[in-house]
Amino acid sequence: MINVTKSSLPPFEEYIDEIRSIWETKWLTNMGEKHDKLEKELEAYLEVPIISLFNNGHVALEMAIEVLNLTGEVITTPFTFASTTHAITRKGLTPVFCDISDDDYTIDVDRIESLITDKTSAIMPVHVYGNVCNVKEIDRISKKYNLKVIYDAAHAFGVTVNGQGIGNFGDISMFSFHATKVFNSIEGGALTFANENYKAQLYQIKNFGIVSPESVVFAGGNGKMNEFSAAMGICNIRRINENIASRKWVVELYRERLSGVKGLTLLQSQKGVSSNYSYFPVVFNEKELGKTRDQIHAALAKENIIARKYFYPLTNTFECYNGRFNSNETPVAKYIAERVLTLPLYPELTQQDVDRICSIILGE
Ligand SMILES: *Cc1c(COP(=O)(O)O)cnc(C)c1O
Repeated sequence: MINVTKSSLPPFEEYIDEIRSIWETKWLTNMGEKHDKLEKELEAYLEVPIISLFNNGHVALEMAIEVLNLTGEVITTPFTFASTTHAITRKGLTPVFCDISDDDYTIDVDRIESLITDKTSAIMPVHVYGNVCNVKEIDRISKKYNLKVIYDAAHAFGVTVNGQGIGNFGDISMFSFHATKVFNSIEGGALTFANENYKAQLYQIKNFGIVSPESVVFAGGNGKMNEFSAAMGICNIRRINENIASRKWVVELYRERLSGVKGLTLLQSQKGVSSNYSYFPVVFNEKELGKTRDQIHAALAKENIIARKYFYPLTNTFECYNGRFNSNETPVAKYIAERVLTLPLYPELTQQDVDRICSIILGE
């Protein structure tokens, strides 16, 4: 069976060596030695001024909303994982859905301004598939209307734009270190930012609002990363560059086989962007190809190959939102969601695997 992804793990002995000292200190969580070490290493790798680690990316996103004191409406996109939209609604805010651009599937910056009202407090764009949003234009709009910007950079670990780490844009960026992501700490996440005040505030928000043993100043939550997760992160960061290079190799094999095929749209590389090759999405045009996305998905599944309808359905059509939103207002996102598949992609995938997958897609 070929799954859509495979989690990266260090050699078993290496992880055991890394966690051995935990048996000496008996310090399992609450910003221990491993946590602090990973924090420093990630600040350096991501080339960001300040980082704060969390138990997962979703909690980090909710806590980013808290530290920025957002209110009212947040402009975002529906072509994303449930987490982005849920973070907004779970914090009592209203998501306002902006369509995506049809070349890189990130927020369509030409449509943002028309969605701004006197209730808008922020923009929450997503660097989908590791594709970089138009950060320059989003910066201009946010300054003009005095809005905060939180980037969902869950897919964009290690991506750089003109040599600058992707975590340096907007007020805060969120990274996910979930098992399925390019870099994982089993579960985990981080916020990156430049404002020094956020570091102390986030420390309290992720630790129950505790300021000192006898002083709890507000109702914070629990967002702390434990030492076993941090140790996994410390091991995995050692091989991240090799890992991304292997992904690049797989992506190039896919491109060789699938580019130029009528009815298939592949992701274009972005100018000045160094990619992390996190996903390989293909958009299938049923009219040109004579087959629908769902037929391709089923044909692969029959051969035990799992591709993923990522992202489908759009978050603005989820049952939990009871028809509150209308996906016809985001027609590009709707078009892509109905036709996209992300193909299997992980460092150990072989040329043979890629050939088999492509042959099934091409009906050879
Ligand atoms: C994975 C992901 C998240 C959530 O991260 P977790 O670490 O799983 O909580 C948020 N947004 C996007 C786009 C993601 O892919």
